[in-house]
Amino acid sequence: MRDNYISNYVQNIEISGIRKFFNKVVHYPQAISLTLGQPDFHVPEKIKKVLIKSIEENRTGYTSNIGIIELREEISKYLGSFDINFNVDEICLTVGGSEALFNTFTALLNPGDKVLIPSPGYPAYESCSKLLGAIPISYKLGEGFKLNIEEIKRKIDEENPKILVLSFPSNPTGATLTKEDRNELYKIIKERDILVISDEIYSALCFEDNYYSICQFEDIKDKIILVSGFSKMFSMTGLRIGYVCATERYMKHIMKVHQYNTSCAPSIVQWGVVEGLRNCMPDVEYMKKEFIKRRDYVYARLTDLGFKVNLPKGAFYIFPSIEKFNMTSDEFSEKLLKEGNVAVVPGSAFGKYGEGYIRISYAYSMEELKEALDRIEEWIKNNF
Ligand code: PMP
Repeated sequence: MRDNYISNYVQNIEISGIRKFFNKVVHYPQAISLTLGQPDFHVPEKIKKVLIKSIEENRTGYTSNIGIIELREEISKYLGSFDINFNVDEICLTVGGSEALFNTFTALLNPGDKVLIPSPGYPAYESCSKLLGAIPISYKLGEGFKLNIEEIKRKIDEENPKILVLSFPSNPTGATLTKEDRNELYKIIKERDILVISDEIYSALCFEDNYYSICQFEDIKDKIILVSGFSKMFSMTGLRIGYVCATERYMKHIMKVHQYNTSCAPSIVQWGVVEGLRNCMPDVEYMKKEFIKRRDYVYARLTDLGFKVNLPKGAFYIFPSIEKFNMTSDEFSEKLLKEGNVAVVPGSAFGKYGEGYIRISYAYSMEELKEALDRIEEWIKNNF
């Protein structure tokens, strides 16, 4: 039922399907939950020490809106290691990648503008668009959840969207951007009147030797906005820090939204991340190696169980097809939770083309993953 006291735009969205399912899991205390994108590693020790020291030294006031220069310098250097160039004035610290995304959408979109979003994809792109009265249009990912360049070209030419959202390494599929697709995409963007928001929050967790991003082309930098953050990289989802990179044309407007939204990112966490980028990259490497082991384990088990599944190339999610079970992803996930005591996220939470899949997060310990997969095996044996 519509409520006249509530914004129509807000009434047009729902809480994310990931959270919805996570909230159900609470009612099944025996269940193992593989629902959240939260690494089970602790924040690196050196970062913890700096966080504590920052409190003791009373570095607890507002920082400049854009964030402390020391951190922007470190981020600029870090991005340079991926061949991505943004200078300190083109980087703004935010309260998580979520705020970075929201500020960017708010700064760019007018009601009625069209936004091309990946499907399956992270739910915020659709909801942020709708909250602003913009129109999200899904583009279907291709074979192995890679980009389907022809589909993107066609959708841009037919729909004339203002923004194209890219999301690699991907939540929920674990796919990364290939060199070929990056190069093709570059040509499309160069020739057309379109802006790109590239969400690269999992870039530190790319399992391949080379990292490819649309932000690596200097000559289209004026059409690209990079969104990222440290929730995943330093396993600090609750500390809420992210960033957005853009040229001055966009940054000056994003900054206004940021100022009225949150003023600045949390001060002590900014100092913690300076330490992280300077001295904790070995911790990130360790975490990445562990995720690769888990990925290999989960992939092998799912394949043995007969799931059709792609090998993820980054992030910490795997997205098997459940087509052969003849159920919707909601039915499948609900049944698996009630009968098999394992919680996964239904693919329907990730948009139009997420149906027919489930998302398993392998950001959990090997013991939990093993137990969960044993339970799934048992459940499948008994029911199908
Ligand atoms: N983008 C993607 C693709 C994500 O998966 C997430 C978190 N799940 C975010 C952005 C937001 O991250 P943060 O916790 O930094 O707000």
